[in-house]
Amino acid sequence: MSQSAFTYVDGVLHVEGVSAVTLAEQFGTPLYVYSRAALTDAYAAYARACAGRRASVHVAVKANSNLAVLNVFARLGAGFDIVSGGELARVLAAGGKAENVVFSGVGKGADEMREALDAGVKCFNVESIPELDRLNAVAGALGKRAPVSLRVNPDVDPKTHPYISTGLKANKFGVAFDEARATYRKAAALPHLDVVGIDCHIGSQITEISPYLDALDKVLELVEQIEADGTSIHHIDVGGGLGITYANETPPEIESFVRTLLERIETRGHGHREVFFEPGRSVTGNAGVLLTRVEFLKAGEEKNFAIVDAAMNDLARPAMYQAYHAIDMVVPRSDASKVYDVVGPVCESGDWLGRDRSLAVEPGDLLAIRSAGAYSFTMSSNYNTRPRAAEVMVDGTEAHVVRARETVRELFAGESILPR
Ligand SMILES: *Cc1c(COP(=O)(O)O)cnc(C)c1O
Repeated sequence: MSQSAFTYVDGVLHVEGVSAVTLAEQFGTPLYVYSRAALTDAYAAYARACAGRRASVHVAVKANSNLAVLNVFARLGAGFDIVSGGELARVLAAGGKAENVVFSGVGKGADEMREALDAGVKCFNVESIPELDRLNAVAGALGKRAPVSLRVNPDVDPKTHPYISTGLKANKFGVAFDEARATYRKAAALPHLDVVGIDCHIGSQITEISPYLDALDKVLELVEQIEADGTSIHHIDVGGGLGITYANETPPEIESFVRTLLERIETRGHGHREVFFEPGRSVTGNAGVLLTRVEFLKAGEEKNFAIVDAAMNDLARPAMYQAYHAIDMVVPRSDASKVYDVVGPVCESGDWLGRDRSLAVEPGDLLAIRSAGAYSFTMSSNYNTRPRAAEVMVDGTEAHVVRARETVRELFAGESILPR
């Protein structure tokens, strides 16, 4: 599906109808390139499976918060899942509607709560009693009532990387399952809150459906208890987290994933409730690549290195999570390949993008780092005073710069030296 937006035509990688060589020449490297068609296809799979049901999709902004990306989803009618006031501002600037926004996150500031209440977001996903108290106070001061769900922690193992599993007892996220019922009673008693739903999000890059079903069963049981206590639950937010194929993972197809969860909710007698999905990676991850050019080849004593112009500041996932991203030649050579570590120019041994990759490569060649549409540009930094890469979106045969490459001047424009 979304991968088909990235194909070889006459031996050259294309993004939709545009050659990646042309993109690199025109806009420079390192360069993030997104495909509008791939974004649209992935979102459409969610939308198709939700059609005719009381179900809606809130795209997780933190996976890719470029305004053009958000705008593509907004035009398709998406809602959004945000984790900060900054992300709310982006959604609104991109043409999204506050009434379709859910506000997640474990540490919302009072000012962020105020902005979200003023904008009129659909729901606050609250993660603790102190947060309930703060939201109640902020809403009261504004003379408003805040719509809330509690994010409950179902304590299931999503079988993913420890840094991206969030639904275990040891995680900082959510209200402990055993305390959830009492916390709902407390929320229902606060005068400036409206309890409207329940929320859970068990992790990211999940490639099996069973952890979702385990979590869902626990959440539905809790919903019955909460309603027995006299608080009605209008919606169930099942979070995000569906994995993608980086190498040879085989996650469920989006449509069958959505249908399976909706069916479980119906067969358990909860079909009258609205269901929210919060996908991030699965709608953006395979809709982007990072193009980078080889600067030097270096033979070390034990390893060969391909030193490229992208680095850990551009793509942090390998350094942060030992994440694997496929790396392909933009114009494959037929020569014999060698094994390389693909590394950047940053002064850290952790600055690698791929290890032990078999490549037939020469200095000056272009590489495409795949699956770079999610948690890639959004996690980039200016470490080593490296300007962040430009972002381009391809739409058919047209390429649009959707974020200009930063300049070095911009990086220290807000800094100043002491007067004496
Ligand atoms: C990060 C996050 C998501 C999106 O997760 P993906 O793995 O990108 O689908 C959804 N909901 C919440 C609360 C999140 O923190």
